[in-house]
Amino acid sequence: MLPACQRPGIVGTGGAGKFATDRVLLDGESMGNQRRPEAIMGTPKQVRPAPGVVPPPAGNQHELTYLFVEITTQCNLNCLHCGSDCRRGGSSGGSSGGPSDGSNGGSNGGSSGGSNVGSSGRPKRHLPPEAILKVLREIRRRYDPRRITVALSGGEPLCYPGLFDLGREIAALEFPWGLVTNGYAWTPDKLRQAYSAGLHSISVGLDGLGEEHDWLRGKEGAFSKAIETISLLRRHPYWKAMDVLTCVNQRNLPVLDRMYLLLRALGVRDWRLYTVSPIGGARAHPELLRR
Ligand code: SF4
Repeated sequence: MLPACQRPGIVGTGGAGKFATDRVLLDGESMGNQRRPEAIMGTPKQVRPAPGVVPPPAGNQHELTYLFVEITTQCNLNCLHCGSDCRRGGSSGGSSGGPSDGSNGGSNGGSSGGSNVGSSGRPKRHLPPEAILKVLREIRRRYDPRRITVALSGGEPLCYPGLFDLGREIAALEFPWGLVTNGYAWTPDKLRQAYSAGLHSISVGLDGLGEEHDWLRGKEGAFSKAIETISLLRRHPYWKAMDVLTCVNQRNLPVLDRMYLLLRALGVRDWRLYTVSPIGGARAHPELLRR
């Protein structure tokens, strides 16, 4: 769900993510014994290799603590700031397609490899699970997987057929895994499936107080859905860690203080703010960019 998405792929980082972000801690509460993942904290960690694991090379390199995997270019929204490949994939259009509300994520979503074309005429591409797992197995040979968060992104990850099967496989390799989602298509059942598959953390995009969010996301009602998802996550018995991502732009700048109050009222503890670069769809919307 991150902006300016490109074709599916895998990007690793030792820092807070591939976008420059400012993290806002909404309160100083401790999370008790819960492990706060790098995805939320954004702090590089010293890797202590497990027995038998070859340590990463010494030197002036970033340690691998966070791995983005853009598993699909299909999405159920049509954000102004998105890269052109990630625009709405259309309704069910083939073996790897599915409803455009992002209901593909369950175990019976069909084949997830290859690509096809949605009714919008834009290509839908899903990174095959075997390709993802092959890379992770390779990484696992050199690094301690327990110290590397695998963040599944897109596109909207819920549009990926077999998402939770993939998550389960990643968890079996001992990587904590998380999702970056636009929060549009979650239901209690999907959350249950996600946590059963070992979901470790989740980031939800929220870009305003209604009108600003729906404008940016290209869909009326997207704000309400995102708020529903955040509320659902906070109430969820399997809830472990979540944060909210906000793309700061000229339209939502005046409401950031009220967003802060809303997120506090919802119980959100971590809020990450970022700005977009003039690439992809953002190029056509100067109001998205900093003055
Ligand atoms: S939610 Fe979808 S359209 Fe919006 S930025 Fe993310 S991938 Fe792109």
